Amino acid sequence: MARYTGASCKLCRREGQKLFLKGERCYSNKCAIGRRPYAPGQHGAMKKKLSEYGIQLREKQKAKRFYGILESQFRKYFEMANRRKGITGENLLQLLESRLDNVVYRMGFGTTRAEARQLVTHGHFEVNGKRVNIPSYIVKAGDTIEVAEKSKKSVRFREILDVTGSKVVPKWLEVDQENLRGKVVALPSREDIDLNIQEHLIVELYSK
Ligand code: SF4
Repeated sequence: MARYTGASCKLCRREGQKLFLKGERCYSNKCAIGRRPYAPGQHGAMKKKLSEYGIQLREKQKAKRFYGILESQFRKYFEMANRRKGITGENLLQLLESRLDNVVYRMGFGTTRAEARQLVTHGHFEVNGKRVNIPSYIVKAGDTIEVAEKSKKSVRFREILDVTGSKVVPKWLEVDQENLRGKVVALPSREDIDLNIQEHLIVELYSK
């Protein structure tokens, strides 16, 4: 499975906002966005005026990087969103939020989406009682997500919850930290998704 392996903080600096790719560090004063609030590279501090295409491209890159998805898969999500009824941009964000790795992260069973993805890949989660090791698995309203019985004893999950335990769980999810399980109460609406993005610009970009 292909994934980005470069420096995470550079991605936030390029997009000019926190993408929360490094867990605890993102909430500390070590966050690079606070210390170096300009794009990476030799000319990163220079202000550049973006073209219309450039603005659309940045919005798309921001969403991809926030969810840790590469271009070809992101494009597939756009096509799925476009085929669904409703507003394509909102459908796209709902699909991205409904990925199992994102749901695991949102429930606080991973400190970052990257960690949540690794835990899913390693078979630590069950959906509706069946093991699922596909991070891109799309959850539905009513699905239960639970740490697999054999993994519940792992100290790793206790360590993760020490970090994420006080994090606010979005209202479309329910979490039982004690028993390491949760439920998708409903699929998220646009207001439930805390990504500062203008998704209509992504739709415009891909509709050219
Ligand atoms: Fe982004 Fe700051 Fe987290 Fe680095 S520490 S990944 S710059 S939010």
